[in-house]
Amino acid sequence: MADKIDYYDILGVTRDADAQEIKRAYRQLARDLHPDVNPDPEVQDQFKMVTAAYEVLGDPEKRRLYDSGIDPLGGSGQSGGFDPFDLMETFFGNNGPRGPRPRSQRGQDALVRIEVELDEVVFGSDREITIETAIACAVCEGRGNAPDTDIISCTMCKGRGEVQMVQRSFLGQVMTTRACPQCRGFGNIIQNPCHECSGDGRVRTKRTVAFRVPPGVESGTRIQLSGEGEVGPGAGPAGDLYIEIQEKAHPIFHRKGDDLHCTLPVPMTAAALGVTVPLETLDGEQIVDIEPGTQAGAQRVLKDQGVPHLRGQGRGDIVVHIDVLTPTSLDTGQRALLEQLAAIRGEEKITVNPIEQEPTFFGRIKDAFSGR
Ligand SMILES: [Zn+2]
Ligand SMILES: [Zn+2]
Repeated sequence: MADKIDYYDILGVTRDADAQEIKRAYRQLARDLHPDVNPDPEVQDQFKMVTAAYEVLGDPEKRRLYDSGIDPLGGSGQSGGFDPFDLMETFFGNNGPRGPRPRSQRGQDALVRIEVELDEVVFGSDREITIETAIACAVCEGRGNAPDTDIISCTMCKGRGEVQMVQRSFLGQVMTTRACPQCRGFGNIIQNPCHECSGDGRVRTKRTVAFRVPPGVESGTRIQLSGEGEVGPGAGPAGDLYIEIQEKAHPIFHRKGDDLHCTLPVPMTAAALGVTVPLETLDGEQIVDIEPGTQAGAQRVLKDQGVPHLRGQGRGDIVVHIDVLTPTSLDTGQRALLEQLAAIRGEEKITVNPIEQEPTFFGRIKDAFSGR
């Protein structure tokens, strides 16, 4: 058979190609040569040949015949009783049954930010917020139709929600499936929409939600309240409500992790002589013990007085940073007293050298660049 049409060649596959390879090759060619893509008559002839080749090689019985030397299409290169509609269904668009889409859908999640005080962070708190949100329409109970009226099945798609459009192509008729334009895919029509919700099945309203702020939260922590978000279209299940925490600054304590830091100014004399200072913490008054000879920059730690760990047991600490206040406006008497003290301590003249500092980070970088 010298004039035998080489279907393998047309599809660009080898003679031992398996069914998957043949299908893949055809699919690719059919896409490239499809009349919708390229209406050129020459390309359409090519497409015809490709389709014929697939009709033969894609069918195990016809392929066996062809391999034994007989062209099941009689060497015509013309597709015979091949139903192009089946073919197109196989390759373009048949994604299985879809059916009408439900009017009821899950609602959206909502996010609300609240500011919390430090004592709420430490001890937790019970809070309420009022949000504007969508709830199910009470008049139609979410169905969307006015009371005592019916929702009718769509006449155009007969309730299927989709319609098949027949398009003529050189291949014959190609059928595509689209959402029904009359019912927008729902399969039914609300002829008399509910006056309250205009058929949406939900209405917007203000609602108060109570929740607990757990101890240990920080800025950015989100509390999830399941099902407290918006009700969906058609009174579909509500989304979730997220409460995002924003910590308010505290006048005394500054948070680092779960520790609370504060600065305690102590007069020079008290730092030298020692003193006890009452400090109002979140748990009440605590005594900070300033020992005699306390230096500026010293720290006192009040264990387990900080923020509770959000996950796990225990609390952070309160870290008190001591600041020693040097008197700035001395009257004559005070000055005389201090001069007297300095004389007794032999501190009228400073002879000590400045303390040698550890090289700073920037100093080290500079050294590295200067090659020292
Ligand atoms: Zn309604
Ligand atoms: Zn319809």
